[in-house]
Amino acid sequence: MKKLVLLATGILIFVSCINSPVDQVADSITEKSLMKPITKLSSDDFQGRATGTVGELKTVDYLTNQLKEYGLQGGAEDGSYTQDVPLVGQKTGQNTTVRISQNGQTVQTFDYNDDFMAWPANLQENVSIDEAELVYVGYGTQAPEEDWDDFKEADVEGKILVVKNNDPSSDPDLFGGETRLYYGRYDYKYEKAKELGAAGVLIVHTTPSAGYGWNVVANSWSRERFYLRGNEDMQGSSTKFNGWLTREASAALFETAGLDLEQQLEAAESRSFEPVSLQGLRLSLDLSATYRELNAQNVLGVIEGSNESFKEEFMVFTAHHDHLGITQPVEGDSINNGALDNAAGVSALLNMARGYKELQPQLKRSVLFLIIGAEEVGLLGSKYWAANPTVHPGRVTANINLDGMNVYGKTNDLVLVGYGRNSVSDVVENVAEERGREVEPDAHPDQGYFYRSDHFPLAKKGIPAVFPNPGNEFVDKPEDYASTVDSLQNANYHTVNDEINKYWDLSGMVQDVRLFFDAGYRIINAEEMQTWRKGDEFKQTRLDMVQSAASE
Ligand SMILES: [Zn+2]
Repeated sequence: MKKLVLLATGILIFVSCINSPVDQVADSITEKSLMKPITKLSSDDFQGRATGTVGELKTVDYLTNQLKEYGLQGGAEDGSYTQDVPLVGQKTGQNTTVRISQNGQTVQTFDYNDDFMAWPANLQENVSIDEAELVYVGYGTQAPEEDWDDFKEADVEGKILVVKNNDPSSDPDLFGGETRLYYGRYDYKYEKAKELGAAGVLIVHTTPSAGYGWNVVANSWSRERFYLRGNEDMQGSSTKFNGWLTREASAALFETAGLDLEQQLEAAESRSFEPVSLQGLRLSLDLSATYRELNAQNVLGVIEGSNESFKEEFMVFTAHHDHLGITQPVEGDSINNGALDNAAGVSALLNMARGYKELQPQLKRSVLFLIIGAEEVGLLGSKYWAANPTVHPGRVTANINLDGMNVYGKTNDLVLVGYGRNSVSDVVENVAEERGREVEPDAHPDQGYFYRSDHFPLAKKGIPAVFPNPGNEFVDKPEDYASTVDSLQNANYHTVNDEINKYWDLSGMVQDVRLFFDAGYRIINAEEMQTWRKGDEFKQTRLDMVQSAASE
């Protein structure tokens, strides 16, 4: 019996090497076929594809037409190609100051934009804080599994919390060591403040703890901000504002309270940290904001599986189509073309959609291409899909999310955010190995990339997900090439210069997309659904979801 199986497998492998339909179709994914949608989507005509603009409508039209042309079906519940993502947009008035007083006298003021950023946390038009107490709460974290509580039962109701960014990292055994967990994200700090009834939150910004400079904080929070509409939870919030304070302003504030900022930041590293009242100081702040309602759109295309017992299960590929739109002109250019972020990822999806459609008779499971809107404004399109999924998450075998591709030439390696956490990672690694390439974990786990892209809301629903990033061992390039690429990336990221430029070389992107295409094919046709590793934070949700799908 054993011999026969081996023989049969041997023949299968032999045949598949010579004549694999996947490889044949993958050959049609070329530099030219990848460049075409990138050129289109990153053209000035699409105006930077911002949420709620004409640029978004054009983008959605183009993507819908492409999916139709390839022969995909609409993936929305009504059979159409789009899912409305209901949003509310918030614009905060910029002409305001934070006033710090002592015994009723103003002793210090901080300016909006230069020193602090703040916005209403409860979707109110006017927020008024009058002489509220300030308390420094370290990392502002309560993590029972780490036996960690920065609040130590302090009553912070109605107070303004001053919080250290990130999570404790000095002890490798705590909070994943250098790795940034959800506790280290600003969203967590704001959620915790709300839970404890604080009146407001200011996170102390430092470049290392945030992973980006103050300019990024100021730019992104002074723009119109978007929230998912109908978030009653938020409307009922007793926390009136959320915000950030620069390191300089924080140091000045602490000094007025007779405290040393650096010492206090250091003190937060300890489990025995206790909240520190900024004695005698009071904070006052008036904020105003205007609102509008709008819809962003997710674009969805489906290829139905050809195996009756598998086709209710889905492989989901994601990439966001939105970008930053039109911003302040830099040397006469005001359009953020978003060629790399993320016309490139969308192009990869379109190419794979065209390819898999050709392979439809060989696909056991169905495939969903979920091209996401409103990512740049807070992963809202993916959060909305996760809350209103068009396919039960317990029937989604896996998610591969693409945001930014390698456009700088061939590499020997490939980075996987989420490396080793689930079986999807293993499949990608196996395919890479067969192709003589190496898969590496994310080199900067401290930046928390796992929580910063569209696969995260899907992972939170238990879907085994990975987020591939470009490698950095370039083939046949000068020795310092990787650092050139690095500085190009940093200089162009989220600026008007994210355009196709003379350094672009899509040979590496061809290599990567063919690899994902092959990995996806194996996942679509695998006997079993993909799983998280034992002990992973998403494992239990996965088990619950699969069970809930089965009992439907
Ligand atoms: Zn992006």
